[in-house]
Formats: sequence, structure tokens, C-alpha cells
Amino acid sequence: MSKTGILTVVSGFSGAGKGTLMKAIVDKYAYALSISATTRSPREGEKNGREYYFLTVEEFESMIKNDALIEWAKYVDNYYGTPKAYVEKQLEEGKNVILEIEIQGALDVKKRFPDALLLFVTPPSAEELKKRLIHRGTEDMETITKRIKRASEESQYMNQYDYILVNDQIEDCVEQMNSIINEAADCLQKGEKFQTKENFEPLIDRMQNELKTI
Ligand code: 5GP
Repeated sequence: MSKTGILTVVSGFSGAGKGTLMKAIVDKYAYALSISATTRSPREGEKNGREYYFLTVEEFESMIKNDALIEWAKYVDNYYGTPKAYVEKQLEEGKNVILEIEIQGALDVKKRFPDALLLFVTPPSAEELKKRLIHRGTEDMETITKRIKRASEESQYMNQYDYILVNDQIEDCVEQMNSIINEAADCLQKGEKFQTKENFEPLIDRMQNELKTI
């Protein structure tokens, strides 16, 4: 029987350490990380084709028209989307693919690929999230407050994810993410549905409450 790869979608709060986590897992294990297209301008140090494909609005809209994206969303005035060709090719070749995208896109992917594994990354507490955003030093206090407000809205969708990863120690989080993906890939291979035995309700409730009051 030919083996199809598993599609993993990773979302999480801004400041949860997703970028670092993606880099670490791709460096250590053989995952195919999809590179998104966006209309936002490159930040300092970002390279076209490495962090993103930086497109004009016209180019992006023509990809939408040609059905060349698996999903796309508008996030803070810019388009972001996942090019279809790369993801489909990698999956067909049996590779396990990871997308790092925001929640709306993640839920769209799940509709299109019901077997996709949805992972949500959170720091251990809202206090820690705030600390990381401040420590990162790339945003002013007004933006940090906006991102925390957005995190609070996003926390309402945490229960739609298959697994919540608490990013406390990066190395542990990488190992945990890798083993969950392998478990889900085994289920997919056997034609079973992946379901964790863990109950994330208390964690989700706590994060939702903390984010409301911080
Ligand atoms: P940033 O501008 O900080 O790189 O990304 C902003 C947000 O866009 C992040 O939440 C990131 O996960 C999300 N994002 C990046 N690529 C995609 C994509 O292809 N599709 C969707 N829906 N969101 C994306």
C-alpha cells in the first residue's frame, strides 16, 4: 500500500514561540515545511522564498482566482495563503507536511483535508505570553496589548484543535510535537481517527480566563 504523508497544521498565539519551534523541528526531523505566500513587506533579514513568497496584491489575487491556494486569509490588512502545488506533491510522495498558519486558515484546511492534524501552541500562562512579547522587543506596548486581545479572541477556538502543545521548554515541545505527529500518522495509516486521551479543558479554561483579565 502506498503511504501518504500526514498534513499537520500549527497555530498559536503571537509570542507562543511558534517560529522557533518550527525551525527546531524541521532542523531535527524530516518534515516538509510549507512556505506561505503573503502581500506583507519583508521584515529585515527575511528572504523571498525562505520565510515567505512576497507577492503583490495582483499576484496574490491571481493565485486565488486560479485556485492555486489551499487556503488564504486576510490578517491585519495583508493576504496570507498556502500554495497548493507544494503541499500536494509532498503528501503524494509520502512526506509529512507542516503548515504554520492562523486559526481561520487552519479551520479551512480541516474542511478541505479532514485527516489533517491540528496543533495549537501556547505558552504555559498568559503572564508568560506577555513576558515573551515584551522580551522580544519587536513591538511597542500598544501592539502588545492588541496582540494579547487577539490572543484572547483566538483562545475561543482552542477546543477545535486536536492537541494543545504547551511550549515551556523548546526541546521538550519539539519531542512532544514529533511524537504526536507520528502517533497521528500511524492512525491515518491504519485508517483510524487520531484522538488524544488527554483532557485539555482545564488548560483551555485557565488560558481563556487569564487572557481576559491580564
Ligand atoms: P507574520 O506577519 O507575523 O509573519 O504572520 C502573521 C500571521 O499569519 C501568523 O499568525 C501566521 O501564522 C499567519 N500565516 C502565515 N502564513 C499563513 C498562511 O499561509 N495562511 C494563513 N491563513 N495564515 C498564515
